[in-house]
Amino acid sequence: MAYRGGGGILCPCCEANIKKKPIQVYKSIPTESNAYFGSFHDAIMAKLAPFSIIQCPKCGFAWNIDFDSNKATYRNYTFSLRYSEKYQKHAKWLIEKISKKYKIFGSKILEIGCGDADFLYHLSKTTQSKGVGYEPSFKNRIELLQQIEDGHKDFADYVTIIPDYFTEEGLKEKFQLVICRHVLEHIPNPSAFISSLFSNLRDMEDVIILFEVPNLDYIITSQCLTHFIYEHCNYFSNLSLQKLFQNNGFNVLEMDTCYDGAFQIIIATNKKKSNFLKIQRNFFKDIFLEKKRKIKTQIDKNSRIAIWGASNSGNIVYNIIQDICTIQCFIDSNAEKYGGFMANSGLPIVSLDNALLMDINTIIIANPVYNTEIQQIIFKKNISIKIIFL
Ligand SMILES: [Zn+2]
Repeated sequence: MAYRGGGGILCPCCEANIKKKPIQVYKSIPTESNAYFGSFHDAIMAKLAPFSIIQCPKCGFAWNIDFDSNKATYRNYTFSLRYSEKYQKHAKWLIEKISKKYKIFGSKILEIGCGDADFLYHLSKTTQSKGVGYEPSFKNRIELLQQIEDGHKDFADYVTIIPDYFTEEGLKEKFQLVICRHVLEHIPNPSAFISSLFSNLRDMEDVIILFEVPNLDYIITSQCLTHFIYEHCNYFSNLSLQKLFQNNGFNVLEMDTCYDGAFQIIIATNKKKSNFLKIQRNFFKDIFLEKKRKIKTQIDKNSRIAIWGASNSGNIVYNIIQDICTIQCFIDSNAEKYGGFMANSGLPIVSLDNALLMDINTIIIANPVYNTEIQQIIFKKNISIKIIFL
C-alpha cells in the first residue's frame, strides 16, 4: 500500500502521519483461508504470505502492510453464515432496523458484494423493494437453484444478481439504499473506495448507505487472534470507521455494534448536514405562481375583493395579485387606520362594516397567522362572504 509520505506512513482513514514501525504478526499465513481445494496437491501448494500490522495512533485503524491483493484471489471462496441461527437473528434485526428507521419501502437497493444474496433477498422482500446485488463469486445458476431449493421461489422477483465486481457503472441506476457488508475489510484502499462511492452518488439525493465490518475494538478486547486473517487487510476501530466516511463527504447518521460486539455497522447519507432550510432558486417564482393560481380559481367577474391586512403583508399580497384581479380596498382591525390609504395602490383602508357597504363579497387574508381570528370576526357578523386563505 502506497500511503507513505512525510517520512512516515499516512493513515488511509484519517491521514495522520504514522511514524511507528509495523508489527510482524506472522512470517507466513495462508492467503486464502476460506478456500477449499479439490486435490491434496493443490491444497498443499496454496499460497502463503507475511502479515504485518500497523495501527494509526490517532484513529485506531489498523491494516496489514504486507497485503498483496494478487495473493488473496478468493478462489473457491465460500463464506456464508446463513445456516447459523445466530446469524439469522442478526440479519432479521438489521433488516428491521434499516427498513423502519430509514423508511425503506418500495425502494431500489444496491448491495455491493452480496455473497449468496440471502440478506438482499430477505431485505428486498420485507420492504417490497427491488434489489440489485454484485457478487463476482456468485455461481449464477447453482446459487439461484440453491435459493429456490431453500424455499425462496420468488427470489428472482426481488433480486437481480450481477455475477461480477461492482464498478461505478453500477451507479448509473438510482438507488435509495446502498449496502455493503463484510467487504470493506478486503479492499486495499478503503478511502479511495468510499470517496469514489460518494462522488458517484452525486446525482442521487438522500441515499442511505449501510456498511458492516468486523469490529477491531472487539478483536482487541476479546483477544480474538483468529480474526486477523490474510483476506482482511483492514481492521476498523469504531472511530476510524466514522472518520473514513466523514472525511470522504458522508454525513454519519448512526453507528452501532452487533453480533455480540464482533461486528459494527455504520449508517450514513450523502445528504448534506443542514440546520436550516435553504431558499431554492425557484422558491419565489413557484410560490407567486401558486398563490396566483389559488386566488384565480376562487374569483370570477362578479367578485368584489378586499385584502384583509392594511400592513406590509397586505401590500405584498396586492403586489403579487394586482395583475390578475381588481382590489377595491383594504380591511383592518385597527381603527386608527380607517380613512387612510395604502402606499402605492392608494386604496382606502376601511372597517369590515364599511367594506360591506362597498359591496365587498370576497376577502383575501394577507397573513395566515390571523386566519382563525378573522374567520371568527366574520362568523360573528353572521354574513355570507367568501374568504380566500393564502
Ligand atoms: Zn488514522
